[in-house]
Amino acid sequence: MKYILVTGGVISGIGKGIIASSIGTILKSCGLRVTAIKIDPYINIDAGTFSPYEHGEVFVLNDGGEVDLDLGNYERFLDISLYKDNNITTGKIYQHVINKERHGDYLGKTVQVVPHITDAVQEWVMNQAKVPVDDDRKEPQICVIELGGTIGDIEGMPFVEAFRQFQFKAKRENFCNIHVSLVPQPNATGEQKTKPTQNSVRALRGLGLSPDLVIFIHDVSSTYRVPILLEEQGIIKYFKQRLNLPIDDQPSDLLMKWKKMADRYERLLKVCSIALVGKYTKLSDCYASVFKALEHSALAINHKLDLMYIDSTELERSMEAENSVKYHQAWHKLCKADGILVPGGFGIRGTEGKLQAISWARTKKKPFLGVCLGMQLAVVEFARNCLNWKDANSTEFDPDTKNPVVIDMPEHNPGDMGGTMRLGKRRTVFKTQNSVLRKLYGDEMFVEERHRHRYEVNPELTHCFEEKGLKFVGHDTEGKRMEIIELENHPYFVGVQFHPEFSSRPMKPSPPYLGLLLAATGTLSAYLQRGCKLSPSDSYSDLSDDSSPEKEFPNSETS
Ligand code: GLN
Repeated sequence: MKYILVTGGVISGIGKGIIASSIGTILKSCGLRVTAIKIDPYINIDAGTFSPYEHGEVFVLNDGGEVDLDLGNYERFLDISLYKDNNITTGKIYQHVINKERHGDYLGKTVQVVPHITDAVQEWVMNQAKVPVDDDRKEPQICVIELGGTIGDIEGMPFVEAFRQFQFKAKRENFCNIHVSLVPQPNATGEQKTKPTQNSVRALRGLGLSPDLVIFIHDVSSTYRVPILLEEQGIIKYFKQRLNLPIDDQPSDLLMKWKKMADRYERLLKVCSIALVGKYTKLSDCYASVFKALEHSALAINHKLDLMYIDSTELERSMEAENSVKYHQAWHKLCKADGILVPGGFGIRGTEGKLQAISWARTKKKPFLGVCLGMQLAVVEFARNCLNWKDANSTEFDPDTKNPVVIDMPEHNPGDMGGTMRLGKRRTVFKTQNSVLRKLYGDEMFVEERHRHRYEVNPELTHCFEEKGLKFVGHDTEGKRMEIIELENHPYFVGVQFHPEFSSRPMKPSPPYLGLLLAATGTLSAYLQRGCKLSPSDSYSDLSDDSSPEKEFPNSETS
């Protein structure tokens, strides 16, 4: 196993995660199997309890792990599926060590940060690095480890010390450290200044880690460019020598596909606008995966995505009285959008505005996709306005409603008594052939997507909806949980209880999102008629095969 530790200097939020994922992508394109571990030095056990305003979206993994959104970058760039243990936090490490201490594993010794916490970090990394993440289920050969925060942070210190020790254990040809730093260019002089980086490298050296590479990447038009820029700076040759890798110096077809994708991204002429009607619109990271899924789909059909964030509270009647300019601006944006998306969310604030947007999409026949809460609200809207159940609601928002169309349906969760959310990958079975989503998913009998919810459509009432044209075309394997809705006689009115955005990939856009973009650009029926093939003039069908010949290490390597 080869380990690449990526640390950050000067400030956080300069794209360390993108650089780390891009390094992984390059090595994967050389035929190596790559995995990734993200270390977040905060005390929280996981990201599940964060408000989206704290760290952006909570990313959900197949195994139900609620993790930092950087794991989404690794999954998308490397086209792999990670596990909750690929995200290490201080909380998890301490919990692990404290459990062992209570269990008597330390035989009466004083349990300390060094060596017990630092040992636990190293063991965790070594064990997790071996876990297969690819479809072929083989052990990875390269593990990219991203240390969150910047060098010098107090809470990051035990991790830095763990890797200082680890570099000797792993041996030089199996471990390297890349430091991602900021080189400011103050407007006053226009000159690049390296002093902050010099200081941060000095701090890193003082802690016993010497960066092998300090990477500078200028701002680029799209993140797809980053692997290309790194490759152009000779990084393949560098890794080949430094880590003694059995690879060619030349990038493979996979990297060429990334290049084509980056080029195509810069040349998009046609625009498709999507209104994202949500609550956390001040911080675009709160909907990071939704944005990516829309972008993957737009790119697949050769369109530039114009994503308009609309704060749903601004669509509400009460806003008209309070601030009519805001109200009318929000409605103006909604009306001019080619498609409407209502994403997942929690809590009542803004739900009335979302219902207004859904009503608009339904009655004006605007392409609409509702995700999780977005689907639940589409059901509420339909109940109120088509079934005339005026007080219909989700019991999340009105526990006493006479028409509880969305209710709390806890899932029996044997392993985890505390967990009340239905989390992670679950199967959805299509109930009919007559479903646009089924066609978009390649006419599969079932799909497996990730979930994160507590409430669900009330299965007792579904027949009332179906009679009026709102069909529940996908259920869980027991037929009790409604997973997909589709409205008849509408160009695209689809709701999904799962979060398909988490499994969208740059070269494999998520089908429900692709459907929205196709409908919003008026090309959905042609696409379906062609048997779900993108028209050659309009797509990058040449990009979908991303296999690169596999490379094996000569002998089973150390550590
Ligand atoms: N609040 C809703 C629920 O718990 C929707 C959750 C979501 O959109 N992720 O079911």
